[in-house]
Amino acid sequence: MFFVEKDKCIGCGSCVNIAPEVFEFDSDNLAKAKENVGDEFKDIGMEALENCPTNAIVYKKE
Ligand code: SF4
Repeated sequence: MFFVEKDKCIGCGSCVNIAPEVFEFDSDNLAKAKENVGDEFKDIGMEALENCPTNAIVYKKE
């Protein structure tokens, strides 16, 4: 499952564009990971992780 470290996120939107199934904007205009995202979206989530300019996305095995 994915997490966004809010103190690192700059709200660039890259992850939301790459993986809208996994990430969305929170009310503070920073990204957050959606809840209960299935494993089938791990690959696209990892692509977003790798493209985050500030390395704000973390993946942890459940
Ligand atoms: S790609 Fe990274 S910095 Fe950009 S919105 Fe997503 S988590 Fe934030």
